[in-house]
Amino acid sequence: MQTVKALEELRAARQPLCEPVGLVPTMGFLHPGHLSLVRRARSECASVVVSIFINPTQFGPQEDLSDYPRDLEKDLALLETSGVDLVWTPAPETMYPPDYQTWIEVDKVSKPLEGARRPGHFRGVATVVAKLFNAVQPQRAYFGQKDAQQAVVIQRMVRDLNFPIDIVACPLIRESDGLAMSSRNVYLTPEQRKAAAVLYRALIAGRQAYESGGRKAGQLRAVIIKEIDAEPLTRREYVSVAHPDTLIELDRVNQDALFSMAVHIGKTCLIDNFLLRNGNWYTGQLLNETIE
Ligand code: AMP
Repeated sequence: MQTVKALEELRAARQPLCEPVGLVPTMGFLHPGHLSLVRRARSECASVVVSIFINPTQFGPQEDLSDYPRDLEKDLALLETSGVDLVWTPAPETMYPPDYQTWIEVDKVSKPLEGARRPGHFRGVATVVAKLFNAVQPQRAYFGQKDAQQAVVIQRMVRDLNFPIDIVACPLIRESDGLAMSSRNVYLTPEQRKAAAVLYRALIAGRQAYESGGRKAGQLRAVIIKEIDAEPLTRREYVSVAHPDTLIELDRVNQDALFSMAVHIGKTCLIDNFLLRNGNWYTGQLLNETIE
């Protein structure tokens, strides 16, 4: 495994890689969710490139950029044992040279949900991902269903800008109590960590309401909200039952919906979702189900 930092080094190391090249973009502090993307890329591509970059432009001024957890040494050891060919850890100055002025805005799908909660977030995400794509020139790129809206935004950008890259959305990996794995889970105190399982329980309640014939999106949202509000440590940001491609809120749920939420527990905001596509549920995998 080669690890490079400068853009010229990345280009030199990328050039001889066998294709197809799969790229897994990350912000580091890797957990089994990230590693599931790497495994998928490993199984589908001749070469695997992982980027580790805490992208400042996707954090709002009040967000956790300076506290964001990092452990590069551990990340590199995990990637080495996962069979990665090349790791790129660019410096902020490489991605954003002085007087940087060029941005990618994906319009409608960036607006609701996380886009409303975090103004400018998807502009930062789309811009950095486009830059990673330009530098690495992968044939495939792997994203987690954990960040469902991000996957929609990137898919839209790739189509709109004609990037010759297949976007692969991978299942959401969960802790054994259902909590979606996230680098930010380390912020939770033991009491908050226990309370955090409510997001998964609430989504299960929403799915059950659908399975028992509930089709009014308002009622399905209400079922989810009731479950979250029963946990005193939570503060809801949003609960959404939207179309999975447009992210527009639904009145009625038929065969396709994204059930998603953002919930504060203490100072940490957690997100989670279940996807209903063609009447089939994609709810992720509990960690102990995925160990090989
Ligand atoms: P991040 O380092 O948070 O930017 O995440 C890098 C990639 O890993 C993104 O595509 C995320 O959606 C994905 N990811 C993060 N957590 C999970 C998870 N629990 N399950 C699956 N993918 C995940």
